Amino acid sequence: MDRILTETYPDAHCELDFSNPLELLVATILSAQCTDKRVNIVTPALFAKYRAAEEYAGADRAELEELIRSTGFYRAKAGSIIGMAQALCDRHGGEVPGRLDDLVKLPGVGRKTANVVLGNAFGVPGITVDTHFQRLAQRFGWTTETDPVKVEHVVAELIPRRDWTMTSHRLIWHGRRVCHARRPACGACPLTALCPSYGIGPTDPAQAAKLVRPGPFS
Ligand code: SF4
Repeated sequence: MDRILTETYPDAHCELDFSNPLELLVATILSAQCTDKRVNIVTPALFAKYRAAEEYAGADRAELEELIRSTGFYRAKAGSIIGMAQALCDRHGGEVPGRLDDLVKLPGVGRKTANVVLGNAFGVPGITVDTHFQRLAQRFGWTTETDPVKVEHVVAELIPRRDWTMTSHRLIWHGRRVCHARRPACGACPLTALCPSYGIGPTDPAQAAKLVRPGPFS
């Protein structure tokens, strides 16, 4: 299944825009309960204003909130960003650490965010179990687990480590485009012959084709 998705989505990648680990960390915090597209609209002005952890750590909270307001939950996200940046300054010389154990100790940074940053900014293989990944791994029959950390460990046994980051992108891309939470486009899916959940969405090709969202989502 992963091989077919590799052929289907040869250019799958992180859909958040960033140019360094700090930018990706901030963008990933902002992406909670928000589309990558919306985050990418907000981040150019944000990244132009705050260029280093010290600048986020000393940010005027009201100004920061205003810049990120449209991503939703902006008060909590501003708190996470400032707290995360202060912790970077206190513990890591203002640099984003490249280790999972250090990343998950930063305020507002969970395992999913840490794996996004590791996989995409540091080239360290990481499995990103977001809502799409979790749903698809279950539909594919890869796991019956519902806890994201358990899902991550099961998939880590199935997929070679070097592919973890890209497999994550491929599942997320397929979840956004074809295998939707409601009404997956089974009749237009390249995995029909292999997927044990084939048929939970429309199987008629014409009907299913209308459900496919081509993207890009960034
Ligand atoms: S066949 Fe249906 S359930 Fe299976 S991956 Fe494709 S769209 Fe999802």
